[in-house]
Amino acid sequence: MSKTYIVANWKMNLLPKDAIFQAKQLVKQYKPKKRNNDIEVVICPSFTEIAAIAKILQSSGMFLGAQDVFWEEKGSYTSSISAATLKDHDCKYVIIGHSERRQYQKETNEVINLKIKAVLAQGLIPILCIGETFVERQDGQKESVLFDQLSGALQGVWLKEKDRLLIAYEPVWVIGSGQAVDPDEAELTQASIKRLLLEFLPAGIVSDNISILYGGSVNSMNAKSFLSKPSIDGVLVGGASLNIEDFLPIINYNT
Ligand code: PEP
Repeated sequence: MSKTYIVANWKMNLLPKDAIFQAKQLVKQYKPKKRNNDIEVVICPSFTEIAAIAKILQSSGMFLGAQDVFWEEKGSYTSSISAATLKDHDCKYVIIGHSERRQYQKETNEVINLKIKAVLAQGLIPILCIGETFVERQDGQKESVLFDQLSGALQGVWLKEKDRLLIAYEPVWVIGSGQAVDPDEAELTQASIKRLLLEFLPAGIVSDNISILYGGSVNSMNAKSFLSKPSIDGVLVGGASLNIEDFLPIINYNT
């Protein structure tokens, strides 16, 4: 059975003590039913809390993710963090190409491509973020933007049988807006993303190794309407993952 992914992106929002408190509370209150082990909850704190939160999440049924990575394995790259270091800290997932990195760090599809390869080489799972801006959408460019982001990020990426790739479709204009897109539209976009992937990847890889998530103003009120869509494999949650009251109902959505 394919998994449902619920990914918390804490971004740069929590001080270390608050992030650690939040992680401990989650572990205390997350009660996955046995039959729900097809739900994978992933917590992505800042790099500074990775080590501490790795310990807290041990045996909790939740998994650790990072918000970014550098593509080289080691060397003179001041301030950078490698995929090998993340693996050493028990990270299982790495968010790559979030729209905020594309916007503020001018991250390109070429850089994102290098990061995806570096993460896969360590046996970790990339969470590739893609999405159009409001202007691109208004100009009717949504599909071509998604195609450029997908084909650029995945150029020369060969997923082996055991590899997984998560793609988070996050329309840039709804991130942090409080107004998610209509779940029916999100589902149609998931279908277009699958179609776009099939233009350059084998069908078996697209169906067996890739999951497609929705992200953008998901909260405890609307999460179920996304997660109950058969073609939406999970959600990436920003703002609503920052406090327990909002996040617990999302991760316990079908208990
Ligand atoms: C995000 O930034 O990845 C995100 C989904 O944020 P929010 O849920 O706050 O829109």
